[in-house]
Amino acid sequence: MDQNIYSAASENLYTINQTLYYNYINMDNTILPYDTNNPIQVASGIWWVGHYLEEDSFQCHSYLIENGSDSILIDPGSRLTFNKTYEKIEQITPFNNIRYFIVNHPDPDITGALDTIDNIITREDACILSHWRSIALLKHLDLKIPLRCVEKMNWQLKTGDRELQFIFTPYLHFPGAFCTFDKGTGSLFSSDIAGGFTEGFSLYAVDESYMESVKLFHEHYMPSREILAFTIRKFEELPLKRILPQHGSIITGKLVPFILDQLKNLDCGLYLMTKTDTDIQKLSKLNRFLNDFIKTLVSNRHFDSTARQLLKHIQKIIPAKSIKFLIISDSKTWQLLEEETRFQGTSYKPDEKLFEIYQSILNSRDDSVHTFGENNSTVILPLSDAESGIILALSLIDLSVGMKIDEETYNILKKVSAPLCIAVEREIIQQKIYREKQSFYEQAIKDPLTDLYNRTYMNETIPRIFSHHDRGLLKEIVLLMLDLDHFKAVNDTFGHNTGDIVLKRVSEIIQKSLRAGDFAVRVGGEEIAVFLVLESPEFKMSIADRIRNEIKSIDFSDCMYSKKQTISGGAVLRKKKETLEELFARADKCLYQSKKSGRDKISEE
Ligand code: GH3
Ligand code: MG
Ligand code: MG
Repeated sequence: MDQNIYSAASENLYTINQTLYYNYINMDNTILPYDTNNPIQVASGIWWVGHYLEEDSFQCHSYLIENGSDSILIDPGSRLTFNKTYEKIEQITPFNNIRYFIVNHPDPDITGALDTIDNIITREDACILSHWRSIALLKHLDLKIPLRCVEKMNWQLKTGDRELQFIFTPYLHFPGAFCTFDKGTGSLFSSDIAGGFTEGFSLYAVDESYMESVKLFHEHYMPSREILAFTIRKFEELPLKRILPQHGSIITGKLVPFILDQLKNLDCGLYLMTKTDTDIQKLSKLNRFLNDFIKTLVSNRHFDSTARQLLKHIQKIIPAKSIKFLIISDSKTWQLLEEETRFQGTSYKPDEKLFEIYQSILNSRDDSVHTFGENNSTVILPLSDAESGIILALSLIDLSVGMKIDEETYNILKKVSAPLCIAVEREIIQQKIYREKQSFYEQAIKDPLTDLYNRTYMNETIPRIFSHHDRGLLKEIVLLMLDLDHFKAVNDTFGHNTGDIVLKRVSEIIQKSLRAGDFAVRVGGEEIAVFLVLESPEFKMSIADRIRNEIKSIDFSDCMYSKKQTISGGAVLRKKKETLEELFARADKCLYQSKKSGRDKISEE
């Protein structure tokens, strides 16, 4: 294969000295070998003129913009690369055609060659373009070539057909760092931004997996997500076709918006997290954990699914078996949220040891992570309110093997304490609201004296039950209308309070004789409607008579001497499509029959 045949088919084909150059990605996305001994055209009139250094994950690139006798060299290079860069430039244009040397930031891999350039350049009008903060340092090289500030050039350079725009990218990773954008080709010489650590040399990023290299580089070198996102937003306003970074691989096509989008949300400044451990892989892992953890906290509505997902995240950094939360209250009875009860709060008495640990955490005002149990097999993470610092809960993480937590993991766990505390607090409040709502609802649908349902509940529930019955989903519905016999006399003889007691006890007996699905409603003073769902109509009378007999046998000797209370009733089977009023009317008729024929009796039609 011709050693000059390298470049991307997705880019255009370019010619030099009648020889075809291809980008190194073929039409079918297979990677062709490329020749780093020659310049590689990466856009119209723009050449990669760097030098491949073996076993250097930094791979520093220089680019030449061909512009006749006003050509431009971007990020000139170092003593390690410049000889080769010079040879490559000479293949395209005489070196003396270069008038502008752009230094996007003043690191040695960009400026190391300036001394040599200063000696070989003969033209008077050559100049180095940089930001004043870089120039303040570059002047120490004591060069003959003049240094010009890009900000004094109104952040642009128009020369020949080329129109370059300089974009200030402060703190990435030098205070006065900037990038250079070539408007004609949509090429951004991005300096360190979007650069990557690569194993070996890959001039073009092939797919989205390149982001891993970019990520690693940025987590190391860029100070913070906010600062990086500030600049990326500036980039997103440019008509970008490709990014030509000083390290890593060139980014083109759909990968440009993808990488920028990823960079906007990337957490940088990882070294801030550590005191002792500078292992970037480990810090990245912990950082990912922190991100995933926070995402789970904000995106889940239900605490039980939140807790389960959190456990999975924690398992990525420590061998956690289970997680539970103890909500601390003034008393020795706390609330426990754990998997077994689907994280519904249940009351919990902490054992001596745990209470002691809690006391010592309180006394020492130390909200750091603790371990306890056999071989340190439980991690205790105190959850404290971010503002007041008060410890509201403890998170207990059981480990499958005992271990000591290292400092970085420990710091990360401490970081999740405040957001986790908010989630647990939110859950406590929600559970309280739910319980209150439930109790209000119970109050609204139940009669306070008898604890039987009221008419509100009946009117809410009956349409659904009747519709099930009409559709054949329920076999038989029985209405049992019950009325206490001579109840007025009970009140008159023994007093209203005794009357209330009688009503309560009768209601209790009725309630006890019901199965799930049946329910009793206090429809009037001493009138109770019982709705029964039956498999077969023949059980109707036996159930009704059993209730009647049980009521008759209640012992009221404590309040009514030896008097017994009887009831009368009417029992009817609902017909399909029958309304509640029609059903009640028939049951009332039967009840009237029972009263008329001597009471203490259930009648049917
Ligand atoms: P019958 O056998 O014909 O049903 O006779 P009765 O005395 O039970 O019937 P009546 O309808 O004349 O009287 C019902 C009484 O029930 C009158 C009312 O004071 C009493 N009552 C209704 N609600 C309550 C209550 O909540 N507590 C008490 N103690 N009595 C009640
Ligand atoms: Mg009565
Ligand atoms: Mg009555």
